[in-house]
Amino acid sequence: MALSVGVLAAEHIAVGLVKGHRLVKSMRMLNAESKGNALQAMPADQIARSICELIEAVRQGEPLQAVGVGFPGIIQDGVVQDSPNLQQIKGYDLGTTLSGMLAQRGLSARAVIFNDADVMAAGIAATRGQLHRMVRAWTLGNGIGFGRYPWVAGIWEGGHAVVTLDPKEYYCGCGGRGHLEGIMGHRAMRLRFLDLEPEEIFANARSGDARCEAFAKLWHRALAAATATSIHMDGPGDFYVGGQNARFIDLARLDRYLHDYVKMSPLQGSRFEVVATSDEVGVIGAAVNAERFLAGGSN
Ligand SMILES: [Zn+2]
Repeated sequence: MALSVGVLAAEHIAVGLVKGHRLVKSMRMLNAESKGNALQAMPADQIARSICELIEAVRQGEPLQAVGVGFPGIIQDGVVQDSPNLQQIKGYDLGTTLSGMLAQRGLSARAVIFNDADVMAAGIAATRGQLHRMVRAWTLGNGIGFGRYPWVAGIWEGGHAVVTLDPKEYYCGCGGRGHLEGIMGHRAMRLRFLDLEPEEIFANARSGDARCEAFAKLWHRALAAATATSIHMDGPGDFYVGGQNARFIDLARLDRYLHDYVKMSPLQGSRFEVVATSDEVGVIGAAVNAERFLAGGSN
């Protein structure tokens, strides 16, 4: 069975050698010890070079069937059209650059670039034996990622779905009003509650603080609303919720709100599940997506 490499480049770079949808070699990380976002201060060419060097380190001369990279932002044909938290890479042709760097090292496999949330969805599908089904995933961090497996060309910026018409909702990192990320994003929560950390907001909500409880309700309703929009566009199914702030999810509450928003009988039957979304899951998903893309399968 052929080897592939998966890369997850979000905050730091994780790389893994993948065979048959399983990770066979431990990942090398860049600046794993650094706090915060190691990619933020890195010029675009250096990001590509670092990814290339890590791929070389992990493959150790072995030929590769596919190279898949998950990267935050809007990705089209290997070009990072926009990445709100990594402005230096806006417009950068990561796919062509990385493929060229790999070719110089004697590797003919083309690097295929995907949105980081899409590789997370693919990794969840692969590690749960769900590659025959549609899997959608929300990742709750500073940004709100929305991933879909099987991968299909498109924008799919579900984190910026409009979930309220209130013009005072302007906390989204992209500057848009009423966005899901403006309610659920970590940065957005800190901007809204200048005196409280997100942990404290949810703890206070549980102990009956009215302002925090009203926000916890809005937070869950926002995710239910964005999920309902996805269901109305793409049908019902399994929705996985991961990322650092998935710990605040109250599943019973989320299910209840979703039922308020989805009423047509053919659209019933969706399910939420909170999952741990590790680097390993994203790395496996990146490799799986690239293999499927290059095989021309359902893509
Ligand atoms: Zn936005």
